[in-house]
Amino acid sequence: MANPMATTGSPAKPARSIAFAFGLLAAALVIFASFYGAYAWNSVQLEKMAELRNLTDMAARSSSLFLRRYAQVLPLLAEKVLAAEERQRGNEIPALLRRYQRAQPDLARIDLFAPDGASVASSAEPASVAAREWSDPDRREAIAETLSKPGLVVGRPRYGLFLHAWIVPLRMRVLDPASGAPIAVLSAVALLDELDSLWRGLQLPAHGLIGLIRDDGYPVARLPPPPDPKSYYAVAGRSFLWRHLRSRDFPGSGELRDLSAVDGLDRIYTYQRVPDYPLTAFFTIPHAAFWAAWRHRVQVPFALFALALAGLIFAAIWISREQAAREHERDLAEAALNNRESELKRQTALLAQTQHAAHIGGWELDIASNHLYWTEETYRIHETTAEEFKPVVEQAIEFYAPQSRGPIRAAIETAARTGEPWDIELELITARGQRIWVRATGSAEFGAGDRPAKLSGSLQDVTERRRADERIRRLAHYDELTGLANRNLFNYHLSRTLSHAERYGRQFSVLFIDLDRFKNINDTLGHDVGDAVLRVIGRRLSETMRAADIVARLGGDEFVVIAEEVSPDEGTAEIARKLLARIEQPVPAQGQEFILTASVGISTFPTDGRDMQTLIKHADIAMYRAKDRGKNTFEFYSSHLNADNVERLSLESDLKRAMVEMDQFVLHYQPKVAVADGRIVGVEALVRWASPDRGLVPPYKFISLAEETGLIGAIGEWVLNTASHQALAWRNAGLPAVRMAMNISARQLYSDELVEQTRRVLAETGLDPDTLELEITETAMMQNMEQMSARLTQLKALGLHIAIDDFGTGYSSLSYLRRLPIDSLKVDRSFVMDVPGDPDDATITRAIIALAHSLRLEVVAEGVETVAQLSFLRDLHCDQIQGYIFSKPVSAADLEDLLRRDSGLALPPVQSAA
Ligand code: C2E
Ligand code: MG
Ligand code: MG
Repeated sequence: MANPMATTGSPAKPARSIAFAFGLLAAALVIFASFYGAYAWNSVQLEKMAELRNLTDMAARSSSLFLRRYAQVLPLLAEKVLAAEERQRGNEIPALLRRYQRAQPDLARIDLFAPDGASVASSAEPASVAAREWSDPDRREAIAETLSKPGLVVGRPRYGLFLHAWIVPLRMRVLDPASGAPIAVLSAVALLDELDSLWRGLQLPAHGLIGLIRDDGYPVARLPPPPDPKSYYAVAGRSFLWRHLRSRDFPGSGELRDLSAVDGLDRIYTYQRVPDYPLTAFFTIPHAAFWAAWRHRVQVPFALFALALAGLIFAAIWISREQAAREHERDLAEAALNNRESELKRQTALLAQTQHAAHIGGWELDIASNHLYWTEETYRIHETTAEEFKPVVEQAIEFYAPQSRGPIRAAIETAARTGEPWDIELELITARGQRIWVRATGSAEFGAGDRPAKLSGSLQDVTERRRADERIRRLAHYDELTGLANRNLFNYHLSRTLSHAERYGRQFSVLFIDLDRFKNINDTLGHDVGDAVLRVIGRRLSETMRAADIVARLGGDEFVVIAEEVSPDEGTAEIARKLLARIEQPVPAQGQEFILTASVGISTFPTDGRDMQTLIKHADIAMYRAKDRGKNTFEFYSSHLNADNVERLSLESDLKRAMVEMDQFVLHYQPKVAVADGRIVGVEALVRWASPDRGLVPPYKFISLAEETGLIGAIGEWVLNTASHQALAWRNAGLPAVRMAMNISARQLYSDELVEQTRRVLAETGLDPDTLELEITETAMMQNMEQMSARLTQLKALGLHIAIDDFGTGYSSLSYLRRLPIDSLKVDRSFVMDVPGDPDDATITRAIIALAHSLRLEVVAEGVETVAQLSFLRDLHCDQIQGYIFSKPVSAADLEDLLRRDSGLALPPVQSAA
């Protein structure tokens, strides 16, 4: 896995170095700017100084040129004046002076003075000449000075009272051409303004100041003009510059920096001597002008620098912020990663736990490195460890059972090629040799270029589940006891058979098989025996059918068979017969042998039904019909059977109505005759229902219904009362005493009321209990031996006679009979019916009679119809017979007749001697 730190961390470094680079750049910029500033300062200073010197030089030179002009003009004028003197034309001198003055616009006037200072001639008006004496007090000194000096002498500036302007006197001595002695002074008055105008052409920098200063300390000129000229020009030696010049003995040129005495500013001065004159020209600007110039010089570059710096700082800040944000992000990512890591660890642990609990192992195969990774559970499933087995694909596949190796290889190849995942169940042989089933899943992960990079999947031990599945499958489809198909599978087959038959127009039959009186086996011999019997029957059924036929057990003692491709009538009947015969063969169980019979109901597709439900229902109805017909037989469904069912319901409601008054029931009586002498020894009361709608209904049609619905209790009580009172009536009528027998149903017998009812009826009638007999069928008696034994003991204690009815149909063993307080035993009609012809029945009848006698029980044979039967029974010393051969059940009145004739009535003669 790629380190996520790398992806979040890497941009931080460039960010930092970019910020650092920006910092460096900014620092370099500042340094460069400083250097540049210093350099600019230097060059500004140099330039400025050069400019200053230049201006000073120009000031000095222009002053010199100005003075030189007058130094040349005045000697020429002096020559003219001397010439006029010589020609003694002194009166022409003022005009001469005037001419010259007018030719020089700089000059306000020209005077000629005598060496004593007296005015000799003037270009000005005489009035102003006179005033001059007063206005120029130090003129004599100045003239004296001029007389002593060669050349032009520049005087002090002075305010001209008549000119109303500042003036500078320019004087020169006039020498006698013969002796060379000074004889006069020419004085030209220059207007200071005009002097200043010399410099007006110069480009003065701001606050620049240009001027001339005399060696005696008096200022001569200044541009711009001083604000207060009087005080400026009047005072000498006030200037620091002058003091400086004087202290250095008036050098040719130089410079100076100091606070100005005039305006108090820090000023730079440059100065230069005016050649040939005791004058120094100077130029000055405030030092601040340097700064201004410097600022002017650097402002654009500095602005650019500042801009660049600001840009750099901004960039640096921005980058560092970005970086901080990234670092924050990275911290968050790191924290998240840590969280994820610990979460992953937890999940992994949990997964391992879960895998272990669910028996699911995981694996992963890195295709490039061929590295196979197994989780703990995967090792556990293989019953090996990481120390014992280093997972390699080929060896891992070797773990599978040989037949499973092909599929897993194919699955892996397909997944690697097409990406199709797999989910298959395979057999695996563990390192310890255990065969287990695993559910193997897997899928491929594709990397660059659509090539499989990784395979991963899971392995789950599903052995238990498969076993359970198999069991469930069997339970779901097969009956556990017999191994036959169960109801589910039967339904499935039936639906398939049905649709097949529909499609091809075939017929088939459903045979519903119910064992007769199977309940007795369970009740008397226990469920183990019952189960064993069912197993045998199940086996016999499937043996009888062809392998392809479906034999199913639907529950209890119900079986069902689907018979295909047989002719529905004869074919199916043949099958039913075969099945019945096979069932009838003795079943060995618990060291005994049982004879079982069954009733079979048959429905046929499509005549008896076109769907499953109908077919099953109709087979069931037919089966009940077979049971009604005496069991051990089969019955085809026919629509009237169904009608029977409907009939049953209406019967039930009619019966219930009959119960209200009880007046629709009648008793018929059938005599029991002693075989020995043919006399009536007993009478059996048999109930009939004289329904207004149905006529006289026989008991087999309603007794079982009455038992099912519980109506039998009331009917039974009515029978008990009616029969007892009839017996009393006959006795009172003086008829021969016969024992009155009544049939007691199982339900009556097990209810607590029977004993009480009997006691009450005995009390009511005062009959001898010995003259009453209760017939209880063997089947009823077998239902619950314990309870039965107790109940019979109670009844017996009342003095009643007790008989077992329909004997031979149940499975009571002798030992049971011996324990019960029984007086007589009635052999079931089904045995009597076929004697003496049927050897089996004859054997059974013989055995029953012998058995009864050995227990000192009276034996009554039921349903004797023929003389053959009678003589057979007589030969076996059967005690009594009951049957049509003597009398059907008849009304009380008819029986009365029989009783009356009894003594005369004889049994039919025995035709065949034993
Ligand atoms: P069961 O107690 O075995 O009665 C004898 C049945 O055999 C009677 O049928 C009788 O008519 C018939 N039978 C007698 N001799 C012959 C013969 O020679 N040939 C033929 N084919 N049949 C003969 P029934 O009256 O239809 O009664 C049938 C059954 O109904 C009785 O069998 C008995 O179990 C039951 N039953 C009758 N009355 C009552 C009753 O009041 N209470 C109870 N719980 N059941 C009764
Ligand atoms: Mg009976
Ligand atoms: Mg009977």
